[in-house]
Amino acid sequence: MPPRPTDLIHHPYVPPAGFEAPQPGVFKASTVLFADVAALRARDWKHKDGYTYGLHGTPTTFLLEERIATLEGGRQCLLVPSGLAAIANVNCALLAAGDEVLLPDNVYGPSRLMAEGELARWGISHQRYDPMKPADLERRIGARTRLVWLEAPGSVTLEFPPLAQLAQICRRHGVTSALDNTWGAGLAFNGFDLGAGEGVQPGSGADIVVHALTKYPSGGGDVLMGSIATREEELHVRLKLSHMRMGWGVGGNDAELVLRSLPSLALRYRAQDAAARGLARWLQGRPEIAQVLHPALEGSPGHEHWREACGPDGLAAGLFSVVFHERYAPARVDAFCDALKLFRLGYSWGGPVSLAVPYDIPSMRSAELGTWPHRGVLVRLAIGLEDPADLQADLERALGALSGA
Ligand SMILES: *Cc1c(COP(=O)(O)O)cnc(C)c1O
Repeated sequence: MPPRPTDLIHHPYVPPAGFEAPQPGVFKASTVLFADVAALRARDWKHKDGYTYGLHGTPTTFLLEERIATLEGGRQCLLVPSGLAAIANVNCALLAAGDEVLLPDNVYGPSRLMAEGELARWGISHQRYDPMKPADLERRIGARTRLVWLEAPGSVTLEFPPLAQLAQICRRHGVTSALDNTWGAGLAFNGFDLGAGEGVQPGSGADIVVHALTKYPSGGGDVLMGSIATREEELHVRLKLSHMRMGWGVGGNDAELVLRSLPSLALRYRAQDAAARGLARWLQGRPEIAQVLHPALEGSPGHEHWREACGPDGLAAGLFSVVFHERYAPARVDAFCDALKLFRLGYSWGGPVSLAVPYDIPSMRSAELGTWPHRGVLVRLAIGLEDPADLQADLERALGALSGA
Protein backbone atom coordinates (compact mmCIF):
# COMPACT_ATOMS: atom_id res chain seq x y z
CA MET A 1 0.00 0.00 0.00
CA PRO A 2 1.49 3.41 -0.94
CA PRO A 3 1.99 5.84 1.93
CA ARG A 4 -0.67 8.43 2.59
CA PRO A 5 0.46 12.06 2.02
CA THR A 6 -0.28 12.73 5.69
CA ASP A 7 2.33 10.17 6.72
CA LEU A 8 4.95 11.95 4.63
CA ILE A 9 4.03 15.40 5.92
CA HIS A 10 3.55 14.52 9.59
CA HIS A 11 6.40 12.02 9.83
CA PRO A 12 7.45 10.93 13.32
CA TYR A 13 11.19 10.60 12.71
CA VAL A 14 13.35 13.27 14.35
CA PRO A 15 17.09 13.14 13.59
CA PRO A 16 19.41 13.07 16.59
CA ALA A 17 20.37 16.44 18.04
CA GLY A 18 23.98 17.60 18.25
CA PHE A 19 24.88 17.69 14.58
CA GLU A 20 27.78 20.02 13.97
CA ALA A 21 29.60 20.91 10.73
CA PRO A 22 31.77 23.78 9.52
CA GLN A 23 28.85 25.46 7.80
CA PRO A 24 25.56 26.16 9.59
CA GLY A 25 22.42 24.54 8.25
CA VAL A 26 19.94 26.31 6.02
CA PHE A 27 16.54 26.93 7.54
CA LYS A 28 13.82 28.05 5.18
CA ALA A 29 10.39 29.14 6.28
CA SER A 30 7.43 31.32 5.70
CA THR A 31 5.43 29.39 8.32
CA VAL A 32 6.96 28.80 11.74
CA LEU A 33 5.18 26.16 13.86
CA PHE A 34 4.15 26.70 17.49
CA ALA A 35 3.67 24.04 20.17
CA ASP A 36 0.40 25.54 21.40
CA VAL A 37 -1.75 28.67 21.28
CA ALA A 38 -0.09 30.10 24.38
CA ALA A 39 3.30 29.88 22.65
CA LEU A 40 1.85 31.47 19.50
CA ARG A 41 0.43 34.38 21.49
CA ALA A 42 3.48 34.85 23.70
CA ARG A 43 6.11 35.05 20.98
CA ASP A 44 7.60 38.54 20.44
CA TRP A 45 8.98 38.82 16.91
CA LYS A 46 11.10 41.89 17.70
CA HIS A 47 13.79 39.98 19.58
CA LYS A 48 15.91 36.95 18.86
CA ASP A 49 14.39 34.87 21.66
CA GLY A 50 12.16 32.83 19.37
CA TYR A 51 10.60 32.52 15.96
CA THR A 52 7.24 33.78 14.71
CA TYR A 53 7.25 33.96 10.92
CA GLY A 54 9.88 33.57 8.23
CA LEU A 55 9.87 37.30 7.49
CA HIS A 56 11.03 37.98 11.06
CA GLY A 57 13.90 35.56 11.04
CA THR A 58 15.10 31.96 11.05
CA PRO A 59 18.18 30.43 12.69
CA THR A 60 20.03 31.04 9.40
CA THR A 61 19.19 34.75 9.15
CA PHE A 62 19.74 35.30 12.89
CA LEU A 63 23.24 33.84 12.52
CA LEU A 64 24.05 36.06 9.59
CA GLU A 65 22.64 39.15 11.35
CA GLU A 66 24.84 38.53 14.38
CA ARG A 67 27.94 37.99 12.24
CA ILE A 68 27.34 41.14 10.20
CA ALA A 69 26.73 43.12 13.42
CA THR A 70 30.16 41.91 14.59
CA LEU A 71 31.76 42.73 11.23
CA GLU A 72 30.42 46.30 11.38
CA GLY A 73 31.12 46.83 15.07
CA GLY A 74 27.39 47.17 15.78
CA ARG A 75 25.09 45.53 18.32
CA GLN A 76 22.04 44.84 16.16
CA CYS A 77 21.55 44.06 12.49
CA LEU A 78 18.70 43.69 10.02
CA LEU A 79 18.92 41.87 6.69
CA VAL A 80 17.10 43.14 3.61
CA PRO A 81 16.89 41.85 0.02
CA SER A 82 19.47 44.29 -1.44
CA GLY A 83 21.82 47.11 -0.55
CA LEU A 84 19.34 49.54 -2.04
CA ALA A 85 16.57 48.07 0.14
CA ALA A 86 18.78 48.84 3.18
CA ILE A 87 18.83 52.50 2.11
CA ALA A 88 15.05 52.40 1.53
CA ASN A 89 14.47 50.80 4.95
CA VAL A 90 16.42 53.58 6.71
CA ASN A 91 14.60 56.31 4.74
CA CYS A 92 11.17 54.76 5.42
CA ALA A 93 11.84 54.29 9.13
CA LEU A 94 13.21 57.76 9.86
CA LEU A 95 11.53 60.20 7.45
CA ALA A 96 8.01 61.64 7.23
CA ALA A 97 6.28 64.28 5.10
CA GLY A 98 7.85 67.68 5.72
CA ASP A 99 11.26 66.25 6.66
CA GLU A 100 14.50 66.75 4.77
CA VAL A 101 17.35 64.32 4.09
CA LEU A 102 20.87 65.34 3.00
CA LEU A 103 22.88 63.28 0.49
CA PRO A 104 26.53 63.61 -0.51
CA ASP A 105 26.87 64.84 -4.11
CA ASN A 106 28.78 61.64 -4.99
CA VAL A 107 26.13 59.39 -3.37
CA TYR A 108 25.32 55.91 -4.72
CA GLY A 109 23.21 56.86 -7.79
CA PRO A 110 20.02 54.87 -7.03
CA SER A 111 19.90 56.47 -3.56
CA ARG A 112 19.60 59.87 -5.24
CA LEU A 113 16.91 58.51 -7.59
CA MET A 114 14.97 57.29 -4.52
CA ALA A 115 15.13 60.80 -3.05
CA GLU A 116 14.01 62.36 -6.35
CA GLY A 117 11.27 59.74 -6.81
CA GLU A 118 9.54 58.16 -3.82
CA LEU A 119 10.81 60.55 -1.15
CA ALA A 120 9.81 63.66 -3.14
CA ARG A 121 6.40 62.09 -3.90
CA TRP A 122 5.90 61.46 -0.17
CA GLY A 123 6.65 65.09 0.70
CA ILE A 124 10.22 64.50 1.88
CA SER A 125 12.72 66.97 0.41
CA HIS A 126 16.44 66.43 -0.06
CA GLN A 127 19.53 68.49 -0.65
CA ARG A 128 22.92 67.42 -1.87
CA TYR A 129 26.02 68.58 -0.05
CA ASP A 130 29.70 68.65 -0.98
CA PRO A 131 31.11 65.78 1.13
CA MET A 132 34.64 67.20 0.92
CA LYS A 133 33.53 70.44 2.62
CA PRO A 134 32.17 69.91 6.14
CA ALA A 135 31.11 73.59 6.23
CA ASP A 136 28.81 72.92 3.27
CA LEU A 137 27.08 70.09 5.15
CA GLU A 138 26.80 72.22 8.27
CA ARG A 139 25.16 75.15 6.53
CA ARG A 140 22.56 72.87 4.89
CA ILE A 141 21.39 71.28 8.14
CA GLY A 142 18.13 72.97 9.06
CA ALA A 143 15.11 72.57 11.33
CA ARG A 144 13.61 69.95 8.99
CA THR A 145 16.78 67.84 8.55
CA ARG A 146 16.15 64.39 10.04
CA LEU A 147 18.78 62.26 8.33
CA VAL A 148 22.20 62.72 6.74
CA TRP A 149 23.63 60.05 4.46
CA LEU A 150 27.39 59.52 4.50
CA GLU A 151 29.43 57.46 2.06
CA ALA A 152 33.17 56.82 2.18
CA PRO A 153 34.51 57.02 -0.40
CA GLY A 154 31.89 58.40 -2.82
CA SER A 155 30.38 56.07 -5.40
CA VAL A 156 32.26 55.73 -8.71
CA THR A 157 34.54 58.78 -8.19
CA LEU A 158 35.88 57.54 -4.83
CA GLU A 159 36.71 60.85 -3.14
CA PHE A 160 37.30 60.00 0.52
CA PRO A 161 35.51 62.59 2.71
CA PRO A 162 36.56 63.90 6.15
CA LEU A 163 34.18 61.33 7.61
CA ALA A 164 34.78 61.98 11.31
CA GLN A 165 34.11 65.68 10.83
CA LEU A 166 30.90 65.03 8.90
CA ALA A 167 29.66 62.59 11.57
CA GLN A 168 30.55 65.05 14.32
CA ILE A 169 28.53 67.82 12.65
CA CYS A 170 25.49 65.51 12.53
CA ARG A 171 25.93 64.63 16.20
CA ARG A 172 26.31 68.26 17.22
CA HIS A 173 23.04 69.11 15.45
CA GLY A 174 21.24 66.06 16.85
CA VAL A 175 20.61 64.68 13.35
CA THR A 176 20.78 60.92 12.72
CA SER A 177 23.60 59.90 10.38
CA ALA A 178 23.61 56.78 8.22
CA LEU A 179 26.81 55.56 6.55
CA ASP A 180 26.87 53.44 3.41
CA ASN A 181 29.86 51.26 4.33
CA THR A 182 29.85 48.95 1.30
CA TRP A 183 33.32 50.03 0.13
CA GLY A 184 34.96 49.46 3.53
CA ALA A 185 33.11 46.14 3.97
CA GLY A 186 33.55 46.45 7.74
CA LEU A 187 37.29 45.78 7.22
CA ALA A 188 38.93 49.02 6.08
CA PHE A 189 37.49 51.03 9.00
CA ASN A 190 34.77 50.82 11.64
CA GLY A 191 31.75 52.91 10.72
CA PHE A 192 30.76 53.48 14.37
CA ASP A 193 34.22 54.20 15.83
CA LEU A 194 36.21 56.25 13.34
CA GLY A 195 39.98 56.63 13.32
CA ALA A 196 42.78 54.13 12.78
CA GLY A 197 45.17 52.49 15.25
CA GLU A 198 45.74 54.62 18.36
CA GLY A 199 43.48 57.32 16.92
CA VAL A 200 40.22 55.35 17.21
CA GLN A 201 37.52 57.51 18.80
CA PRO A 202 34.73 55.37 20.25
CA GLY A 203 31.31 56.51 19.06
CA SER A 204 32.77 59.05 16.63
CA GLY A 205 31.08 57.54 13.59
CA ALA A 206 27.58 57.10 12.22
CA ASP A 207 24.41 56.05 14.06
CA ILE A 208 23.49 53.55 11.35
CA VAL A 209 25.80 51.55 9.07
CA VAL A 210 24.36 49.98 5.94
CA HIS A 211 26.23 47.53 3.73
CA ALA A 212 25.43 46.07 0.30
CA LEU A 213 26.28 42.45 1.16
CA THR A 214 25.83 41.94 -2.58
CA LYS A 215 29.45 43.07 -2.99
CA TYR A 216 32.28 41.61 -0.87
CA PRO A 217 30.32 39.55 1.71
CA SER A 218 28.61 37.64 -1.12
CA GLY A 219 31.83 37.60 -3.11
CA GLY A 220 30.28 35.59 -5.90
CA GLY A 221 28.34 38.12 -7.93
CA ASP A 222 25.35 35.87 -7.34
CA VAL A 223 23.51 37.19 -4.26
CA LEU A 224 21.59 40.40 -3.63
CA MET A 225 21.37 41.39 0.04
CA GLY A 226 21.80 44.35 2.34
CA SER A 227 22.28 44.92 6.05
CA ILE A 228 21.51 47.70 8.53
CA ALA A 229 23.65 47.71 11.67
CA THR A 230 23.04 49.86 14.74
CA ARG A 231 24.26 50.21 18.32
CA GLU A 232 21.13 51.60 19.95
CA GLU A 233 18.25 49.24 20.64
CA GLU A 234 15.62 51.96 20.22
CA LEU A 235 16.91 52.94 16.78
CA HIS A 236 17.12 49.27 15.81
CA VAL A 237 13.50 48.67 16.82
CA ARG A 238 12.36 51.69 14.78
CA LEU A 239 14.14 50.24 11.75
CA LYS A 240 12.80 46.77 12.49
CA LEU A 241 9.18 48.01 12.68
CA SER A 242 9.50 49.47 9.16
CA HIS A 243 11.27 46.28 8.05
CA MET A 244 8.28 44.25 9.27
CA ARG A 245 5.61 46.57 7.86
CA MET A 246 7.29 46.78 4.45
CA GLY A 247 8.00 43.03 4.25
CA TRP A 248 11.73 43.15 3.51
CA GLY A 249 12.79 39.60 4.47
CA VAL A 250 15.58 37.54 2.89
CA GLY A 251 15.60 33.88 1.85
CA GLY A 252 17.50 31.16 3.70
CA ASN A 253 19.48 30.04 0.66
CA ASP A 254 20.78 33.54 0.03
CA ALA A 255 21.70 33.99 3.70
CA GLU A 256 23.54 30.67 3.58
CA LEU A 257 25.59 31.78 0.55
CA VAL A 258 26.75 34.87 2.44
CA LEU A 259 27.48 32.81 5.58
CA ARG A 260 29.62 30.53 3.45
CA SER A 261 31.56 33.45 1.92
CA LEU A 262 32.15 35.37 5.16
CA PRO A 263 35.13 33.30 6.40
CA SER A 264 37.11 34.24 3.28
CA LEU A 265 35.97 37.90 3.27
CA ALA A 266 39.19 39.36 4.70
CA LEU A 267 41.41 37.21 2.45
CA ARG A 268 39.51 38.19 -0.67
CA TYR A 269 39.37 41.86 0.32
CA ARG A 270 43.13 41.98 0.86
CA ALA A 271 43.91 40.14 -2.37
CA GLN A 272 41.61 42.37 -4.42
CA ASP A 273 43.04 45.45 -2.68
CA ALA A 274 46.64 44.48 -3.51
CA ALA A 275 45.80 43.65 -7.13
CA ALA A 276 43.82 46.87 -7.58
CA ARG A 277 46.58 49.06 -6.13
CA GLY A 278 49.19 47.48 -8.39
CA LEU A 279 47.06 48.11 -11.46
CA ALA A 280 46.08 51.62 -10.32
CA ARG A 281 49.76 52.57 -9.86
CA TRP A 282 50.62 51.16 -13.25
CA LEU A 283 47.79 53.16 -14.85
CA GLN A 284 49.04 56.33 -13.10
CA GLY A 285 52.13 56.07 -15.32
CA ARG A 286 50.19 55.70 -18.57
CA PRO A 287 50.00 58.75 -20.86
CA GLU A 288 46.36 57.99 -21.81
CA ILE A 289 45.19 58.51 -18.21
CA ALA A 290 44.71 62.02 -16.81
CA GLN A 291 43.87 60.90 -13.25
CA VAL A 292 43.55 57.67 -11.29
CA LEU A 293 40.94 57.89 -8.52
CA HIS A 294 41.88 55.50 -5.71
CA PRO A 295 41.76 56.87 -2.15
CA ALA A 296 44.80 54.88 -0.97
CA LEU A 297 46.97 56.44 -3.69
CA GLU A 298 48.69 59.74 -3.06
CA GLY A 299 47.28 62.46 -5.28
CA SER A 300 43.74 61.04 -5.21
CA PRO A 301 41.06 63.32 -3.75
CA GLY A 302 40.65 62.64 -0.05
CA HIS A 303 43.81 60.52 0.26
CA GLU A 304 44.62 62.22 3.59
CA HIS A 305 41.12 61.42 4.89
CA TRP A 306 41.59 57.80 3.84
CA ARG A 307 44.82 57.75 5.89
CA GLU A 308 42.95 59.13 8.91
CA ALA A 309 40.11 56.62 8.62
CA CYS A 310 41.99 53.50 7.52
CA GLY A 311 45.57 54.17 8.67
CA PRO A 312 48.69 54.80 6.55
CA ASP A 313 49.04 51.04 5.97
CA GLY A 314 45.28 50.58 5.84
CA LEU A 315 43.03 48.64 3.53
CA ALA A 316 40.97 49.70 0.53
CA ALA A 317 38.43 47.98 -1.67
CA GLY A 318 39.70 46.57 -4.99
CA LEU A 319 37.92 49.30 -6.87
CA PHE A 320 39.15 52.42 -8.63
CA SER A 321 38.34 54.72 -11.50
CA VAL A 322 40.41 56.25 -14.24
CA VAL A 323 39.75 59.56 -16.00
CA PHE A 324 40.96 59.43 -19.57
CA HIS A 325 42.82 62.33 -21.09
CA GLU A 326 40.28 64.73 -22.56
CA ARG A 327 41.69 64.20 -26.07
CA TYR A 328 39.82 60.86 -26.10
CA ALA A 329 36.18 61.32 -27.12
CA PRO A 330 33.58 59.18 -25.35
CA ALA A 331 33.34 56.87 -28.39
CA ARG A 332 37.09 56.10 -28.11
CA VAL A 333 36.72 55.26 -24.43
CA ASP A 334 33.77 53.01 -25.32
CA ALA A 335 36.09 51.28 -27.82
CA PHE A 336 38.63 50.76 -25.02
CA CYS A 337 35.92 49.16 -22.84
CA ASP A 338 34.73 46.98 -25.72
CA ALA A 339 38.30 45.83 -26.39
CA LEU A 340 38.69 44.44 -22.86
CA LYS A 341 38.45 40.66 -22.70
CA LEU A 342 39.03 39.59 -19.08
CA PHE A 343 37.36 42.71 -17.68
CA ARG A 344 33.69 42.22 -18.44
CA LEU A 345 31.17 45.03 -18.75
CA GLY A 346 28.81 45.01 -15.81
CA TYR A 347 27.68 46.72 -12.62
CA SER A 348 28.55 45.80 -9.06
CA TRP A 349 31.87 44.60 -7.64
CA GLY A 350 33.41 42.31 -5.03
CA GLY A 351 33.04 39.14 -7.10
CA PRO A 352 35.62 36.97 -8.88
CA VAL A 353 35.24 38.62 -12.32
CA SER A 354 36.87 41.99 -12.99
CA LEU A 355 34.40 44.56 -14.29
CA ALA A 356 34.53 47.85 -16.20
CA VAL A 357 31.83 50.53 -16.59
CA PRO A 358 32.13 53.94 -18.31
CA TYR A 359 30.19 56.68 -16.49
CA ASP A 360 29.01 60.14 -17.53
CA ILE A 361 29.84 61.86 -14.23
CA PRO A 362 28.64 65.42 -15.04
CA SER A 363 25.09 64.08 -15.54
CA MET A 364 25.23 62.55 -12.03
CA ARG A 365 26.35 65.71 -10.20
CA SER A 366 24.69 68.88 -9.03
CA ALA A 367 25.82 71.72 -11.34
CA GLU A 368 25.49 74.16 -8.43
CA LEU A 369 28.04 72.34 -6.25
CA GLY A 370 30.63 71.99 -9.02
CA THR A 371 32.22 68.92 -7.45
CA TRP A 372 33.55 67.38 -10.69
CA PRO A 373 36.63 69.18 -12.09
CA HIS A 374 37.50 66.78 -14.93
CA ARG A 375 36.81 66.97 -18.68
CA GLY A 376 37.76 63.44 -19.69
CA VAL A 377 35.58 60.30 -19.58
CA LEU A 378 35.66 58.13 -16.44
CA VAL A 379 35.78 54.34 -16.41
CA ARG A 380 35.37 52.45 -13.14
CA LEU A 381 37.36 49.24 -12.77
CA ALA A 382 36.40 46.60 -10.19
CA ILE A 383 39.20 44.10 -9.68
CA GLY A 384 38.21 40.46 -9.34
CA LEU A 385 40.31 37.46 -8.41
CA GLU A 386 42.10 36.85 -11.72
CA ASP A 387 45.90 36.94 -11.96
CA PRO A 388 46.82 40.66 -11.82
CA ALA A 389 49.42 40.21 -14.59
CA ASP A 390 46.69 38.94 -16.92
CA LEU A 391 44.51 41.92 -16.02
CA GLN A 392 47.36 44.33 -16.75
CA ALA A 393 47.95 42.71 -20.14
CA ASP A 394 44.22 43.02 -20.88
CA LEU A 395 44.24 46.73 -20.00
CA GLU A 396 47.41 47.36 -21.98
CA ARG A 397 46.00 45.73 -25.08
CA ALA A 398 42.68 47.58 -24.75
CA LEU A 399 44.49 50.92 -24.36
CA GLY A 400 45.73 50.29 -27.91
CA ALA A 401 42.09 50.52 -29.09
CA LEU A 402 41.81 54.08 -27.76
CA SER A 403 43.52 55.79 -30.65
CA GLY A 404 41.40 53.92 -33.15
CA ALA A 405 44.45 52.32 -34.72
C1 LIG B 1 25.97 48.20 -4.82
C2 LIG B 1 25.80 49.28 -3.85
C3 LIG B 1 24.57 49.50 -3.22
C4 LIG B 1 23.33 48.72 -3.55
O1 LIG B 1 23.44 47.35 -3.43
P1 LIG B 1 22.44 46.39 -4.23
O2 LIG B 1 22.47 45.14 -3.45
O3 LIG B 1 22.97 46.28 -5.62
O4 LIG B 1 21.10 47.05 -4.20
C5 LIG B 1 24.50 50.51 -2.28
N1 LIG B 1 25.56 51.27 -2.00
C6 LIG B 1 26.75 51.10 -2.58
C7 LIG B 1 27.89 51.98 -2.20
C8 LIG B 1 26.91 50.10 -3.52
O5 LIG B 1 28.09 49.95 -4.12
